Amino acid sequence: MATKDMKFIFVCPIQNKEFESADFRVLENKGVLTDEAGNKTLDAKVALNEPCPFCGQKHTYHASELSCPFTGSD
Ligand SMILES: [Zn+2]
Repeated sequence: MATKDMKFIFVCPIQNKEFESADFRVLENKGVLTDEAGNKTLDAKVALNEPCPFCGQKHTYHASELSCPFTGSD
């Protein structure tokens, strides 16, 4: 499965603005967790490889913060 060009929407926590990036990496991937309500979340962190276009920092996010296809919706 090719995921190389997949872009995610990130939100700058400093300026609270959205941007797209495909230049990131996944850290501390512990797999998908299911809570008591049956909600699935990916327990991982996502770190930008390029600086945020708004504030210049390389933000790190928890996967659950992102609008992304990791968890699906079934
Ligand atoms: Zn930022």
